[in-house]
Amino acid sequence: MSRPVAPYSEELATRLAAARVWAAHRAPYLANAVFSLVMEPLTPSAAERTGELVADPEFAAFPTDTRWVMHVDPGTALATPVEQIGWWILHQIGHLVRGHAQRSPVRPTCGPDAPLHAVGYAGARDEDAHRWNQAADAEINDDLEAEGLDGPADVVSPAALGLPSNRLAEEYLPMLDELTELLHGTGRELSAGLDCGSGADGIDRRWDSTGAGGLGELERELLERSVAVGIQERVSARSEVPMGWQRWAEERLRPRVDWRARIGSLVRKTANRSSGRVDYSYRRPSRRTAGHPDVITPQLVRPVPDTVLVLDTSGSVRRPELEQLVAEVAEILAKVGRRRLRVICCDLQAHPAQEIRRIEELRIVGGGGTDMRAGLAAAAQLRPRPDLVVVLTDGHTPWPDRRPPFESLVCLVGPDGVAPEWASSVHLPEMGATS
Ligand SMILES: [Zn+2]
Repeated sequence: MSRPVAPYSEELATRLAAARVWAAHRAPYLANAVFSLVMEPLTPSAAERTGELVADPEFAAFPTDTRWVMHVDPGTALATPVEQIGWWILHQIGHLVRGHAQRSPVRPTCGPDAPLHAVGYAGARDEDAHRWNQAADAEINDDLEAEGLDGPADVVSPAALGLPSNRLAEEYLPMLDELTELLHGTGRELSAGLDCGSGADGIDRRWDSTGAGGLGELERELLERSVAVGIQERVSARSEVPMGWQRWAEERLRPRVDWRARIGSLVRKTANRSSGRVDYSYRRPSRRTAGHPDVITPQLVRPVPDTVLVLDTSGSVRRPELEQLVAEVAEILAKVGRRRLRVICCDLQAHPAQEIRRIEELRIVGGGGTDMRAGLAAAAQLRPRPDLVVVLTDGHTPWPDRRPPFESLVCLVGPDGVAPEWASSVHLPEMGATS
């Protein structure tokens, strides 16, 4: 399995190129992604006595970071069959395009709610990070298996573990916890401790590129979109694309439609409820009198609910996302006829309500801790009292125990926030990933 340290680079390059071709051939709908992956050889490890290249088990999974850089240990690559490197390429692309790093419950965040165990990460992964890696692997590997692409023996496979297929990593997580519990004491393990890198869990590794290498945010966005569009074109042309990838492409291209539609429908629902405030208007003739231009009858105008936005302006919610979300929500409300909007910025306390006509008029104030109870209490004090309160937050906040005196819609930024059960809620796509 080992060979002399030098010269190996030409053989390594040829091998990696062959693996790419194999991967693109097996999954043509991912070809764009396969050829965009950046492969960076690491400094090889060599056996001390013989000076020969050895495979470092830490890099058995060809760890990849979120900038689409695959860190290749030369000893590992030269000892791994081309088809298996190709399999890892497809597997790692799975982590990247499904946003496992962004969805990771163990990834360090900048806010005060950052998981403590993730802060100051020095290289050794803890159990939670390892479990998330396995759950994410399960989400990817069943799709690969459905394509007849079986991975190396030591990877997590839902079928082999007797788990249902086609689930998300978040769903596999508790199942794997339970399985581990069952295996406890039997001497068996779920799988080898493979490390797929920061592209799977969002925790920087010491070998990760620091900025310059790999793909930037915009390039990644364009690449993912082009892969998704390519998949949809193949589907329209009746070429075979596995179900999991079809679903991914659909969601990748249309996530915002859903939450916009959700907000719009809640605004309409609230409007129908406030039926006591229906106005009659003479502004436009109703259709029934179209044939009799002399007769003008009042027409029922659907009332527009008075809506207040409560913005979580604590340190944990990123400003560009917040501004973009406010703009989107304001646009939806403007479409149904609400020209003025009252906005309450809220961190640990509610700041004075601002009435705005255009998004440029909004001043976002706040920072620090989060308590949305203050913002909702302030909204209840407003006169006229709002019909609908839309809260934009990452959800890392205490909520009132009881339903406030208005309809509430909680728009959650990021994957792990929680809305109270008395509110309607919708998860917003991360703006960095969709705009
Ligand atoms: Zn993996």
